[in-house]
Amino acid sequence: MAAQTEESDCAREQTKAEQDVDQVRQRAARDQQRLDSGAITSPKDLENLQHEITSLAKRQGNLEDVVLEIMERRESAQERVSELTERVSSVQSKIDSATERRTAAYQELDGEAAAVTKEREVVAGSVPADLLKLYEKLREQQGGVGAARLYQRRCEGCQLELNITEVNEVKAAARDAVLRCENCRRILVRTSESGL
Ligand SMILES: [Zn+2]
Repeated sequence: MAAQTEESDCAREQTKAEQDVDQVRQRAARDQQRLDSGAITSPKDLENLQHEITSLAKRQGNLEDVVLEIMERRESAQERVSELTERVSSVQSKIDSATERRTAAYQELDGEAAAVTKEREVVAGSVPADLLKLYEKLREQQGGVGAARLYQRRCEGCQLELNITEVNEVKAAARDAVLRCENCRRILVRTSESGL
């Protein structure tokens, strides 16, 4: 925006400077006409007129230099505008593509969440009500994890290994007994990899 403002400022300046040149040029042309017409006869007047034409030519030259200087500045401002415009559009396309990917990721996550929620509902439906209640209570107390796998004699909830007494208790427990970790109190889930 700053570059565009600079460019339009230069454009305005250029128009003004060109008008200045034009005025001087027109005045010099008028003087020249008067000189050429032969209407002026007084040597003093002729000399004055000649003098003015010379100084107007010099002034015109100076003003044209000003125009050139402004044009140069304007050109570099234009270059800057087009360079920045290009950069803006490249950044914008990066934003667009990131937004697109984010939207796709959201959709995927939403789909996944819906599937997992449904899956959980099915599993929860098969769990006895009192056990589910215990699990929900523990889950709330234990940072979202109410049950943990017993893996190689280690509770994967708190990562502590069961001592030999605890292992023996687990071994002796009925297959459908609800076991709890002595350390973190989470429900312990036995699998073939529990190391029993
Ligand atoms: Zn534990």
